[in-house]
Order: sequence, then structure tokens, then C-alpha cells
Amino acid sequence: MIRKQRLALLGSTGSIGTQTLDIVRRRPEEFEITTLTAGSRWEKLVEQALEFKPDSVVIANEKHYKAVSEALASEPIKVYAGSDALSQVVAGGEVDTVVNALVGYAGMLPSIAAVRASKRLALANKESLVVAGEHIMREAAERNVPILPIDSEHSAIFQCLVGETSPVRRVIITASGGPFLRTPAERLADVTVEQALAHPNWSMGAKITIDSSTLVNKGFEVIEAKWLFGLKPEQIDVLVHPQSIVHSMVEFDDGAIKAQLGTPDMHLPIQYALRFPERGELGEDRLSFEKLATLTFEKPDLVRFPLLQTAYDCLRKGGNSCCVMNGANEVAVAAFLRGEIKYTDIQRVIIGTLERAQFVAAPSIEDYAASNEESRRIAHEIIQN
Ligand code: NAD
Ligand code: MG
Repeated sequence: MIRKQRLALLGSTGSIGTQTLDIVRRRPEEFEITTLTAGSRWEKLVEQALEFKPDSVVIANEKHYKAVSEALASEPIKVYAGSDALSQVVAGGEVDTVVNALVGYAGMLPSIAAVRASKRLALANKESLVVAGEHIMREAAERNVPILPIDSEHSAIFQCLVGETSPVRRVIITASGGPFLRTPAERLADVTVEQALAHPNWSMGAKITIDSSTLVNKGFEVIEAKWLFGLKPEQIDVLVHPQSIVHSMVEFDDGAIKAQLGTPDMHLPIQYALRFPERGELGEDRLSFEKLATLTFEKPDLVRFPLLQTAYDCLRKGGNSCCVMNGANEVAVAAFLRGEIKYTDIQRVIIGTLERAQFVAAPSIEDYAASNEESRRIAHEIIQN
């Protein structure tokens, strides 16, 4: 019998994390959970630990360490706390695949730790590549470590590339357009948190849902695609496709375009990353062409959604620019979610931070940490003034 694939699941209590556990639950003969981690939702982490019996759990927020330890006292499960512990459990010997379902900058160092420990990386945390894509891809190539995308667009591109040896002409990343696709510019300033959280096609964590509405998420996916597939910015196009059926496409030199289609359900790209190159039975919800309404495609509106252009600009400028954009975005989105700034202030904070943050042309991992801190500080200052 083939040994089970041992998974360290980072961010197990989130949207991607819980859907990853759905896959594991359906295939207990294939997968085994060795580590589960959560940010603050310790009760959910305990519940998951009791079900999946990992070797260890990490609660990143240290103030919940005692509660988790007490709740798991009768189990042979090691309990750790703090963000450094995330990178440590990843590097531990008993792991084949690290599923990085953390949100934000917090995912970057664990991705590096996984690659350095030669662990297969199933990557949902796109911010890892936005901040440090160059380092992560270089170190992965040096060690021959596979990085398998979970993000649906990148999974689609990855699926289109299987079996191809010819160069890619360009990729077309599709975007739903989010809840404000048809909202006039003058109304954007007044949109509420509730409206911004109501994504038309996908149910996801709060931060990526806001990022989808501003098209920052799409900008980050352009950056992610550059690093994952070794493309130039001009080889990456974005098309708004409100039905979210075509998950992305690849064009080759002869004009052939391959696409991956399906219902919008993250279980598919998660399972594909975990079982690659095999597919497998999954759910009942099938795409029916007869029932399908029209599929439409249009160019994104960069006037109402300028942050998509900002992401391209950061990618072209290079250095720490994408790291600065990411840090400012995290602060701005959190402030918007707390009701402290208006929706349109998100772009003001990001652009203002990019103007003021120090440019570092060839950053090290330590430089990224400093740049992340600096951009967060500047973003907070802009918000307070
Ligand atoms: P989420 O907010 O639902 O879950 C995030 C997880 O990370 C939770 O378990 C949380 O406890 C943990 N966490 C948050 N902050 C932390 C910190 N500082 N330290 C340690 N742990 C922390 O997010 P999500 O929607 O599952 O997204 C996760 C990642 O996957 C993001 O990078 C997102 O862009 C990407 N992604 C998500 C989807 C989706 O459908 N949800 C689709 C594509 C890509
Ligand atoms: Mg995506």
C-alpha cells in the first residue's frame, strides 16, 4: 500500500483551510493531517484537532495558547503558539506537503520555510509570491521543490499547460469583476462594508473578498502568474468574465487557446493541487452547457479600478514595490472593514504609501520584512491624517 500523503495545513480554520479538510475527510485513505494552524479562532482549531488527530497544532495568537493546551490536554498533540512556530512546524520531518492557506504577509515566511525544507508547496497564499516571488521561485527551482497553485486562475493555467512543451504566447486571467462591476464611479465612495463583502460568485475570506471588489486581487494574481509561470508582464492579460465559468486561459504561438472551465468551486483546484497529476471524483455540481447562460468577456475598467494598473506598475518597477503595495493594502482593507475609512480611501492609502516608501532595488528576505513594516506604518499615518 502506498503511504498516505502527510499534510501540514496552515490556516486550517479559513475558507481554503476548511475546504481542504473537506477533501481530506472524503479521502482518509490518501491523506493524513500532521499539523493544523489557526490565527485566533482557537475553538475551531480544537474541534478540527479532535477530528483529524494531527501531531501538532499552532495557534498564532499567543493569548489563546493556554485555552488550546487545556482543551487538548488528554490528546497526544503538541501545541505551539506564535508566528515563528508556523515556520518551524513546516520544516519538521513528518510532512510531505505544506498547504499554505494563510492570508496576507503572514504566509510569506512559512512558504520560504517549506521550500527550504524541500516540502512540496500547495499554495493558496498569493501574497507570498506578491511579496517575495523572485526568492521563492528561485529557491524552489534550486531544490527542485514543486509549487502547486490553488488559486483558481493559476490552477486553470497550470491545468492548460500539462503536456505542453511549447512556449506560452500569453495567458488570459479572468476576473468576475466583483460586486461593483457596474457601479458608477461617483457612487463608489459610499459603498458599505456589507456591499463590498457580497461577492457575486465566490464565498471567501473577508480580505480577499474586498481585494476582489477593488481588483487588487486580480492585480496580485497577475504578479502571482508572472512568478509561477515565468512570464513577462506584457504576456499577462486580464479579462472581466462575470459568470466565473472560464477560470483562465493560455494562448500558444499557433493561435490555439486552451481554457479550463467549471462551476466556481475551490474544492477542484485544491484537490488538483493535492492529487496532481491525478484527478478524482468530486461533488455533484457539474457544468451544463445547455443550462449555461451566455459567457461574456470585457476589458477591465482601469478608471474605476485603478489598482489593477498599480499592480502592473509595481511589477514592472520591481524591487520591493509589490511588497509595499501589499503592506499598504492590508492596512487599508483592515481599516475599511473596521469602518475607519471610505471604500475609495483604499486606493488613496495604497498610492500614497507607494509614493513615500523607500525603494529597494534588490531586496533580501530581511529587506522585505523591513519594507512591510515601513509600508504598514506609512499607511497607518495616511489613515490617521
Ligand atoms: P481566511 O481569512 O478565510 O482564512 C485565513 C486563515 O489564516 C485562517 O485560518 C486564519 O486563522 C489564519 N490567519 C490569519 N491571519 C493569520 C496570522 N497573522 N497568522 C497566522 N494565521 C493567520 O482566508 P481565505 O479566504 O481562506 O484565503 C487564504 C489565502 O488563499 C489568501 O491568500 C487568499 O488570497 C487565497 N485564496 C483564497 C480563495 C478563497 O476562495 N477563499 C481563493 C483563491 C485564493
Ligand atoms: Mg483567484
